[in-house]
Amino acid sequence: MERKRIIQELSTPAGEELFQEAEEVCKRYIGEQVYIRGIIEFSNYCFRDCLYCGLRRSNKRIKRYRMREEEIVSLAEKIILCGIKTVVLQSGDDMGFSAETLSRIISKIKKRHPEVAITLCVGERDFEDYKAFKDAGADRYLLKQETSNPSLYARLHPGQSLKKRLEILEYLKRIGYQIGAGNIVGLPGQRIEDLADDLLLLQALEVDMAGIGPFIPQQDTPLANFAPPGLDLTLRVLALARIITKNAHLPATTALATLDPQRGQILGLRIGANVLMPDFTPEGYRERYTIYDNKRRVDLEEAKKVVRKARKKFSTDRGDSLKNRSSFQKTGREEISSQSVFERRRYACAD
Ligand code: SF4
Repeated sequence: MERKRIIQELSTPAGEELFQEAEEVCKRYIGEQVYIRGIIEFSNYCFRDCLYCGLRRSNKRIKRYRMREEEIVSLAEKIILCGIKTVVLQSGDDMGFSAETLSRIISKIKKRHPEVAITLCVGERDFEDYKAFKDAGADRYLLKQETSNPSLYARLHPGQSLKKRLEILEYLKRIGYQIGAGNIVGLPGQRIEDLADDLLLLQALEVDMAGIGPFIPQQDTPLANFAPPGLDLTLRVLALARIITKNAHLPATTALATLDPQRGQILGLRIGANVLMPDFTPEGYRERYTIYDNKRRVDLEEAKKVVRKARKKFSTDRGDSLKNRSSFQKTGREEISSQSVFERRRYACAD
């Protein structure tokens, strides 16, 4: 899809045609099923300082927690006992969990349940750590870039760069992970053109999955006084992501449920999303995982209701990547730099 058309679609309130097109693409490339991933938020420590996030290190009001190793493994067991075949382990960028400890947790789960997929969402680490996690049995890695605009990225993520983020994503892909990126809709300072580039970047990265959700302010952050975007804009970005990526897995995010508790996720599933991630983080912890305010709790029962109301099929299958990686592997290139991602993005713009 041309950049011009994307900008046009994002600049005008959505007509039904866009949503219908996204739904048709979803039916053709994915089907009617909604894949369920059970998520455990095992630590809210983070040494980074992202301006929009309540877990940022400068937030002294948050009560921090780290789950114990056995606690995490037994929560994974609980997810698997529900028949769910993807376990997502998520935390802030917490180096309090060494590569050794996390690898041990992963391999304990995989030894008992080799049929289950493990997705990691633990931020930026040393390159050796990603390899260690992969060797321990991790299958997928989520590392959202949040924005494709390098200067906005640098402003929102002190001390970090978009270039590095993209290099990591390429590395993760190269060592065999299914990768997930994604972006926030409605970030303060974001332009419609940035959103169009966010979508083209997902295409250029050939992501296996992409998490796209609205910006929701958190009271203890520097962006506390900024308003979230409208539901319509968020849904348009999601619908365009479906049309552009075709078969990437796209969750109807918890942030979408927070933005509009009644309709957010149901509409998300109707216009192209195909994944829900019910939260298995126990009480006592989950209220403290305050990445944004009023985070809605979507548990397994709620996820079932949402799928029913969206008139889709509930699936506990692994829901692995639908991308064909052979062309990527055939290149035999040792180094794929972030520059090449931008090159491909340019080609994508010229489509
Ligand atoms: S967005 Fe991620 S890396 Fe940034 S402060 Fe929050 S948890 Fe940490």
